[in-house]
Amino acid sequence: MALVVLEGMRFHAFHGVYPEEQLLGTDYVVNVEVQTGIALAAQTDSIEQATVNYETVFQICMAEMAQPRHLLETVVTGIIRRMKRQFPQMMGIKVQVRKLNPPLSTKMRALENTEKYQAIGGRAEAAWVQDAAEFVTVCPRCKTPFLCYTDDTCWCKELNNLHPATQETLKRQFGTTCLCPNCLKLYAG
Ligand SMILES: [Zn+2]
Ligand SMILES: [Zn+2]
Repeated sequence: MALVVLEGMRFHAFHGVYPEEQLLGTDYVVNVEVQTGIALAAQTDSIEQATVNYETVFQICMAEMAQPRHLLETVVTGIIRRMKRQFPQMMGIKVQVRKLNPPLSTKMRALENTEKYQAIGGRAEAAWVQDAAEFVTVCPRCKTPFLCYTDDTCWCKELNNLHPATQETLKRQFGTTCLCPNCLKLYAG
């Protein structure tokens, strides 16, 4: 397993709950780390074989950063979701969104004028949220490891030739319709 990382992506965005964040914006740094196999890309030295390419990762982050949200949690989850839709071969992903020089709340600002605060100071450099997910799982039927995204972004949801009755059977028997590609082929019409 290898890591493909794009770090230090800088954006000026309008996330946050304070009016000045929404009006003037704040600076952000986004880091994305993908666990993936690179053997095929390295062997062929071809961008077509790269499971994850930087430019697309940057575009995904840009699209999500351009959409103002109240919470960094929403931004992080949005980036992971878009990454899952775009790249079906990730073994895992970690996304971190850092808000630089986060503004103070009105309450904190009132505190800032007190003698006590002025004596000790104190300012945060960044506030950040990070989330990570792993997608390697074991096929409940044949026990082979495979990749499952566990939600509607999973490759198996693209298999639209699974009869509803078959899906019911799978869910009853294995608790999921996500089997490895080989097993799922046996059930696909
Ligand atoms: Zn299987
Ligand atoms: Zn799946």
